[in-house]
Amino acid sequence: MKALFLTLMMTLILSLSGISTAAEISLQVLGSGGPVADDARASSGYVIGLPDGGYILIDAGGGVFQRFGEAGLNMDDLEFIGISHFHTDHSSDLPALMKSAYFGDRKRTLTIAGPSAAGKFPGLNDWLSALFAPGKGAYAYLSGYIDGDAAPFALLPIEVPITATQAVEKVSFEAFSITTTPVPHGPVPSLAFKISVGNLNIVISGDQNLSDSAFVEFVRNADLWIMPMPIPEGAGRIARNLHATPSEIAKVAAQAGVKTLLVSHFMARSLADLDKNIALIKTQYTGALLVAEDLKKWRFDLQLPQQGWVFAVPTPVK
Ligand SMILES: [Zn+2]
Repeated sequence: MKALFLTLMMTLILSLSGISTAAEISLQVLGSGGPVADDARASSGYVIGLPDGGYILIDAGGGVFQRFGEAGLNMDDLEFIGISHFHTDHSSDLPALMKSAYFGDRKRTLTIAGPSAAGKFPGLNDWLSALFAPGKGAYAYLSGYIDGDAAPFALLPIEVPITATQAVEKVSFEAFSITTTPVPHGPVPSLAFKISVGNLNIVISGDQNLSDSAFVEFVRNADLWIMPMPIPEGAGRIARNLHATPSEIAKVAAQAGVKTLLVSHFMARSLADLDKNIALIKTQYTGALLVAEDLKKWRFDLQLPQQGWVFAVPTPVK
């Protein structure tokens, strides 16, 4: 009892003094917007902060470069980059972030994962070549990131086959593991990422229409599920082939027993319906519900897991 009291006192003192305890995981939204520049939001980007001080970045759409700096992040501390798919609003700022890394102290390789090719979309390896290949890449002056020559560090690409029907355990690091699964996003090869730290599971979905019932198992009992919600309930056929409606999201969240759902990926037209869509979700899903804004941050205390995700740093959108 005395030990528990001392632990609680120490936690209180540390939190009052602004020093975070080690067993903390954070989520910060870098970009909560979509592909249309009408909402004063950056396109998609999310950062998971790990207990050891490292970071995982999922997606790097337009504007994420700026938010990355505003969030005080550093490419030296990145442990992993995942690109869910090669729509511009999920990937176009990657070259800018890599140029920023050039001025840092990083020497160790940086793992980057993305989907394989389909239709009009390249796979991760060809996409990186189109950007950085010596002599022919759009940014061939940064070719060292793929050939290891004259760059501070090399990218280590993992191209995830989008034909895989099972979740694919791709990478295990000392402090966390990443599991991926292909998700249906019309004709676009797209991935969801599950980040596991101990017993905690965070699923960051790529854009998808939720038509694959296997995804319910992938997201089952997730402590946090980040899901794009760019279309309203009455969206047309083409939009619904790409994305899920609020009620479809709520249904999967409820079926899977998701503990906290964070909806994101808004544009002006979806923000107009936001209150209505949130109310609709709450009629079907009774877990915690968070709404993304650029630079909003939540933390999860592994020592006090019953607290769930707690709003952490109220950073105003610039
Ligand atoms: Zn997309």
